[in-house]
Formats: sequence, C-alpha cells, structure tokens
Amino acid sequence: MDYSPYFNPPIETMSREEIRSLQSASLRRVVRHCMNSEFYRKKFSELGITPDDIKSVDDLRKLPFTSKEDLRENYPFGLSCVPLKDCVRLHSSSGTTGNPTVVLHTQKDLDDWAEAVARCLWMVGSRPEDVFQNSAGYGMFTAGLGFQYGAEKVGMLTVPAAAGNTTRQIKFIKDFGTTVLHAIPSYASRIYEVMKAEGVDPVRDTKLRVLCIGAEPHSEQQRKRIEEDLGVKAYNSYGISEMMGPGVAFECQCQNGLHIWEDYFIVEIINPDTLEPVPEGELGELVITTLKREAMPLLRYRTRDLTRIIPGECPCGRHHLRLSRLQGRSDDMIILKGVNIFPIQVEKILLGFEELGTDFLITLENKESNDTMTVEVELKGLFTDDYRKLQALQKEITRRLKDEILVTPEVRIVPKGTLAASDEKKAVRVRDLRKNY
Ligand code: ADP
Ligand code: ZN
Repeated sequence: MDYSPYFNPPIETMSREEIRSLQSASLRRVVRHCMNSEFYRKKFSELGITPDDIKSVDDLRKLPFTSKEDLRENYPFGLSCVPLKDCVRLHSSSGTTGNPTVVLHTQKDLDDWAEAVARCLWMVGSRPEDVFQNSAGYGMFTAGLGFQYGAEKVGMLTVPAAAGNTTRQIKFIKDFGTTVLHAIPSYASRIYEVMKAEGVDPVRDTKLRVLCIGAEPHSEQQRKRIEEDLGVKAYNSYGISEMMGPGVAFECQCQNGLHIWEDYFIVEIINPDTLEPVPEGELGELVITTLKREAMPLLRYRTRDLTRIIPGECPCGRHHLRLSRLQGRSDDMIILKGVNIFPIQVEKILLGFEELGTDFLITLENKESNDTMTVEVELKGLFTDDYRKLQALQKEITRRLKDEILVTPEVRIVPKGTLAASDEKKAVRVRDLRKNY
C-alpha cells in the first residue's frame, strides 16, 4: 500500500515559524492550567509572576524550573492539576534513588501519548502490515504500555511478550513473523546471544527488520553491532516517565539525531551549574516543558539528561528539533581524579574490538587514598587460554581507553556470561565503591 511517510503529516511537517506560534499559544494555556496546582501557585508567587506575564515562548525563562526532588517532595499527587477522579492511570519511575516519582494521566493524556509513539513507530517505517513485539516489562515501566498503545494506534498486530524468557521471546519472533521489535539495547544483544546458542539465524529464520532501542544510554558502536548481529535497522528511542515515557524523542530513518515532538514539548538545553542556556549546538542538560498534559503538566522540568541540539535541517522533512544521542544522566557521570567520564565512552572503545562482547562493568574504588577504575569486559567467543594473546589484547584496550578517557584503568578480560545483564532491568555499568569511604 502507498502510505504517507508521516503519521500526522500537518503536524510533522510544520515549519519552524508554525511550530513556534503553536508553542506560544500552548504555553499560555498550560501556564494558566498549572495554577490549578498548589505547587505551581506557590512557585509563581515566590517569583512574583502571574500567568499574564507569559505571552510567548520568549517568556519561558521567567518560569520556575521543576526538578525530580520537587516530584519526590510532593509524592504522590502534589503536582496534579485535575481532580483524581479525572485521572485514569498512573506510572512511576523505578525510583533507583529514593521515593519513586509518580506521573498521573487523564484519558486525553494517554491518547496523546499513544499518538506520539505512533508517530515515532511510523517514522521508522512501521505500517499496519507489520507485526510488533514488545520485550519491555509491562506495568509501572512506561515502555510496556507506552509502546503497546502506540503500536496499536499504528494498526500493527501487536505481540505484548513483555520482559524476560528469551527462548519464548525468540519463538514468538519466529512463529508470529515479528517484523518490528522493541528492546532495551542490552537485551537486544542478549536476544542475539540466545539465538546464536539455539542455532537461530536472525536473517534466515526471522522476518525482523526494524528494532527500536532505548531506555538506556548506548553508543553508536553498540547500535552498529546490534544492527549487524540481528540484520535490522536499529533506531534510538528516548523516553522519560516524567514526560510520559517512550515517544518523547525518536530517530528518523536518517539515523542522525532524535526528533523531539515540539507540539508536545518545549526544549531548552542549559548549563546545569549556571542554569543559563548553552550556546546553540553545545552539550548541556535537557529541560522540557510539557504543552499538552492535563493531569500533571510540568514546567521547565530538569531531566538531568545530557545532550545537544543538532543544528540544521533534517532531510526527512520534519522540522521538529533533533537531539543528539543521549550521553546518560548527569548523575551517571564518573568523576575520577578530576576527569569527567561517561560509561558510554568506555563502551564505544570496547565495542571497537571484534574479540569483545557487549557486557562490561566499571568498578571505582579507593585504594590507599588513590581512586582507581577497573574495567571488566567479556570476551565475545570462547575463552582463549593463549595467555600472550590475551595480554596483548588487554594492553591494547588499556591504551585506547586511556586515549579516550584520559585516565588509565585496570582492564580485566573475563569469560562470556560472567557479567551478563539481567533480562528485565536496565544494565548496570558502574559500581562506585568509593562512596563507602
Ligand atoms: P528510571 O530509569 O528512573 O526508572 P525512566 O524509565 O523514566 O525512569 O528512565 C528515563 C531515563 O532513561 C532517562 O532520563 C534517560 O536517562 C534514560 N534513557 C531513556 N532513553 C534513553 C536513550 N535512548 N538513550 C540514553 N538514555 C536513555
Ligand atoms: Zn528526520
């Protein structure tokens, strides 16, 4: 069938001027709506502003920031702007660090969310003829239900396989003719490993063609590895439960940056220390204002995720801004001997070695008042007992890591399966034992 390349052509192809004037109108509305929450009423009065002070996007910087701490302190429903009887669902983040953050949704919020995900899935080439399988956990984790409703909105046959049980997952892929799969990147690699062990050739034995990978930082090298292993095109999906979940920003088929839907969100990139905007195109913290949300609109929400805006036009015809691959949260950043290091930099180097698998673990310790970093990485194939070969490999990994991160880690090559990521959870890449001191 002949389909449009866009799920929602008038919105997706809006010009920059149209996007901006739509945003200004939506911002005026959302700011007024925020006055239904005591939290924002208080913030506005502290700053001495009223909704009338906000006339366009140019006034955005007059507004207060909202942080994860604000959500925690007002747990669970303190930021809601509608009565609870008008809400139909809540989600909460996994709460890795403290009280979980709760996000409420009205039915319209859920419909808008499904539309955002549908646009993303359509953008990467999913069509009603496709079979979509979701290997994310269903429940509080937003990637389960979030992708489910989006894929149904596209009109695909959906397979809500949910997380875990890789053998069953692979059976579904084969038996139901799955063409589009969603998996977090560490789990996509796991699926491939199990396929290999079970003698399943992803190209010969499955119809997989599109993979949506997201929810955790991953490097371009990991994407390429996954694409080659599974014989698919893999697209980066950025989601954050405070904004809704998946569907916030997604790569198009150009695979050069993630379009963020600007009729839903206003984007700012700030310097997390000065809170001032960074010069265009520079790395900083992503700050998002929701424009459509009814139950729990958020003004200038500090995501703690670091990214930059990719300048220029995208050949796909969408003018919605593009974010560069997300580096990870500012709290994922390792500071070792005064040097800032992201786990994704380590991954990038490790995946440059044919011999290595995708699982690795960074351990930070304090030994005799000296901060040290150990990088354990798995071999891809069988463990070799050729000591000389291993030693040479180890030396070369250490050298290349040092060039990238500017400190010299201790590198340990470990047998396959030693560090294997769990089926259900986002991979843990860093263990910081220095905090015990
Ligand atoms: P939590 O992980 O706190 O339980 P979420 O599921 O909302 O809650 O996770 C959102 C976070 O996951 C983002 O803030 C970001 O740090 C990370 N993340 C999501 N998608 C991506 C992606 N494509 N690339 C890198 N990091 C991502
Ligand atoms: Zn594009």
